[in-house]
Parts: sequence; C-alpha cells; structure tokens
Amino acid sequence: MAYVIGLDVGGSTIKGGVFTGTSQSLVDIRVKTYSMQNTRAEILANMSATIRQLMQHASGLGIGDLSGIGIGVPGFVNAGEGVVIHASNLELHDVNLKLWFEKEFSVPCVVQGDARVGALAEREFGAARGSDSLLYIVIGTGVGSGMILDGQVYEGDHFVAGEIGHTILNPDGDLCACGKHGCLETFVSGPRLIAAYQRRLLRDEDVTAKTLSERAAAGEPDAIAVFREAAQTLALALANYCTILDPAIVVIGGGVSLAGPVLFEPLREFFPEYASPLASKSIKIVPAELGDRSGVVGASLLVKECLDCEAATASLKGVTNGSGTLV
Ligand SMILES: [Zn+2]
Repeated sequence: MAYVIGLDVGGSTIKGGVFTGTSQSLVDIRVKTYSMQNTRAEILANMSATIRQLMQHASGLGIGDLSGIGIGVPGFVNAGEGVVIHASNLELHDVNLKLWFEKEFSVPCVVQGDARVGALAEREFGAARGSDSLLYIVIGTGVGSGMILDGQVYEGDHFVAGEIGHTILNPDGDLCACGKHGCLETFVSGPRLIAAYQRRLLRDEDVTAKTLSERAAAGEPDAIAVFREAAQTLALALANYCTILDPAIVVIGGGVSLAGPVLFEPLREFFPEYASPLASKSIKIVPAELGDRSGVVGASLLVKECLDCEAATASLKGVTNGSGTLV
C-alpha cells in the first residue's frame, strides 16, 4: 500500500501527516519552526526535515512507499507550475516548491494555497461532503477563501481568486493591512473583533478571539454585540459572493468560526436581507468540521486530485511510458 504525505506550512508551525486515502493520518507531527523569522533556505530545510521524519515513521509502520507529497502554503500559488508566488508572513516568494521537492524525494509534489487546500478537505471529508461547488472562508488573523466551482478548485487567471478578505465594504472604513480601507478583514478578523470589543469597553481588556466568544456565549452584551455586527458585515459580503457564484454551500472555518452560534445565528439572520430569496432559501452556511486539521488533510488530497501525478511518478522514478523499462 502506498501512502501520501500532507504538509501544512504556517508562520510558526509545520504540520505533517501520513495518509492512505482517509481523513485519518497514520502519523501526525507538528514542528515549531518560527518560519516567520527564517530565510528561504531555512524554511525549505525545515520542510525537508519534516518530510523525512514522516517517511521514517511510515517506514517503521511498514505501510509501503511514498507516492506523493502535497503542500499547503499561506499565500498565492500557481499550482500547475508548483510555484509559490507570494506567501503571507513567510520568506517564500517566486519559489518552485514542486521542482525542489520532486528533485529531493523523486515523487510527485503538488503545492496549493492553504484556503484552497482547506476547501478540498471540507469537500472530501468535512462539512461540504458531496458538494460540487462551495465557498470555504477562513476567518482568523486574516480572512481568506477557497472556491471549488463545478468540481474544480478555482484559482483565477493570476492565481489570486477568492481574496474575499480584501473585498471593500466601506471605502471610508478603517485602514486594512493591504493598504485599502474598509475591507471585510477590517470588520471580522480576530484582531479586529478584539479591537471593536475594547472600543466598546473604552479600555484595553486582555482577551483573545476565543475568550471573546466565551463571553458572548455566556451572555455578555458587549461581546454579543461585537459578533452581531461582524456577522452583519460578513452576511453582506457572503451575499454578494453568492450572488455572483451561486455555490451549494458556504463553509466557514478558522479561529473566529469556533465562536459557534454567537456568530452563525446572526449570520443566518442577516444573510436573507442581502441575498436573493432563492439564494437565501438554498445556500447553506455552516461551520467547518475539520478544524485545524483541514490543512494537512487537504494537502494530502492534492496528490489525489493531481491528474498528472501518475505520469509524473513514472517519469520521476525513471520508468519509460508503456514498456516499463528503467532508463
Ligand atoms: Zn484589505
């Protein structure tokens, strides 16, 4: 039995897993890397070391040969070429990870942006099982999304499709990290929710998005109001998104989505105010199911989704097409 490695590369951690076709990883590792301070060479070395560690574990379990590596990276990726065009908070710009790791490990390597990887995971094993078209929105420190349309991951012509966090909802609004004003991210990201809460309290209160949601769930009016306002703006953005794309389902993941009903109840209440009656009636808005495992699970699915991987495996292992002779 062959296995696949899924790697989820983040700013401070690399998560990896060994998969044989299910959402359950046979080996899970999580390596603290502090990649935000690392050079490109250090990040690549950390990734290689993590892959080798996973291969060692897999060989200890006797589960066969590695057939491919899937890698999710936060940022813009040209998946066809395997190039990370620009990664958020990581020194990975214009780097061909596919070539790099295929050369090192002699198996196909598929690279994709982390939100798209999460969308694949939720479609295969999570909240969007069986859906051919879905929007997967991740709300944490930033806000991103991955789209699957007619069964295919949609990247856009310049590989930047799905930047919902930087759709502008109020041009006179707060300054966003991207340099524009009033982007969705300025209304709903974790840090912005905390700032909105502190503005209401008129003091700096030491809270996290998690404790804020706990306060809302416990009935604290200011915390409830913060989530309600965020939900209203998110409903507006989602309604616009859905008006254009008409997906079957919207899945919301990331740290802020863990707030649960204090976010989702007002979101479902406001959505019909902005969406068409048909969209409001038909499109489901649900929390993600895979949590922070979606990155590793989805990365492993990249290899399964890769149409060229079989041919790539043959060529990388030096097998000629058809005759099977080694060259
Ligand atoms: Zn922005």
